[in-house]
Amino acid sequence: MIKGLSAQTKLAAVVGHPVGHSLSPILHNAWLAASDLDAVYLALDVTEAGFAAFMAGLRESQILGLNVTLPFKAAALAVADEASDIAARAGAANLLRFQSGRIWADNTDGAGLIEALSIHETFLPSQGPALLLGAGGAARGAVGALLDAGVPEVHVKNRSPDKVLALQAALGDRRVKTFSSMADPLACIVNATSLGLNGQGAPDLDWTSVRTPTLVLDMVYRPLNTTFLQQASIYGHQVIDGLAMLIGQARPSFAALFGIAPPPIDVRRLALAQLSATG
Ligand code: NDP
Repeated sequence: MIKGLSAQTKLAAVVGHPVGHSLSPILHNAWLAASDLDAVYLALDVTEAGFAAFMAGLRESQILGLNVTLPFKAAALAVADEASDIAARAGAANLLRFQSGRIWADNTDGAGLIEALSIHETFLPSQGPALLLGAGGAARGAVGALLDAGVPEVHVKNRSPDKVLALQAALGDRRVKTFSSMADPLACIVNATSLGLNGQGAPDLDWTSVRTPTLVLDMVYRPLNTTFLQQASIYGHQVIDGLAMLIGQARPSFAALFGIAPPPIDVRRLALAQLSATG
């Protein structure tokens, strides 16, 4: 359990702007409470103007590391001395570790996506292309993870076509295609746009053209049951919410920050309680 705070207490945090809505402290502190570590996990709100100075100060500190959320994922990668291949390909980091004045960057969002999809034994990556909606930071991280998991191609559909071209150029992988027509069957459909957040809309998709039932994941988790997932259910697809992905990215983050696997407790229940309390 979390011990009384002292000079020995280890510190990790999530940094973002705003960050008050983050579920990461709930997840990590629950895991810490169930383990025997003298450590605490906080949420730190830093302005965009202050991020560079904030990171420079932390570089020589005793902090174990940070999770990084909007809008700092690209800046976090830029500030790091070393980066994992997956973070470099994503062009973004959601995890920074501090060791002897150096900063090491990683990206566990892709691992979270694959963990959430893999909960379902119907996820067969090789059975067809993945359809990815969106071409922002989260989509870029998802592409590498989906290809690594074994999907033969990723078909990217986005409001701004130039962003798809930029994503293809950044990844330099022929298996990343601009969406032109619906493949059948698909390995999965992933919403990586911010549409649906706070109940605002849903990505435009012709559900009648998705003939074979597939797995549909929405990265948005406020609300949990988005309009997009409701549409997918109506058309007979199996749905996965964004909270499953969030927990999936938090697990390897915890292991990297605190050096042990997260204890097997039901953090989803805690996160759901927090979501319903905060809307
Ligand atoms: P970005 O701002 O980088 O990208 C936003 C994407 O949404 C772009 O593709 C953008 O299209 C599209 N979009 C935004 N508004 C509209 C609109 N009105 N109509 C059509 N398309 C639109 O955000 P991120 O990629 O970082 O995040 C995307 C979502 O994923 C967010 O909701 C985020 O919270 C969520 N997320 C969830 C995670 C989880 O663990 N569950 C992890 C990471 C992210 P365009 O290029 O045309 O502007």
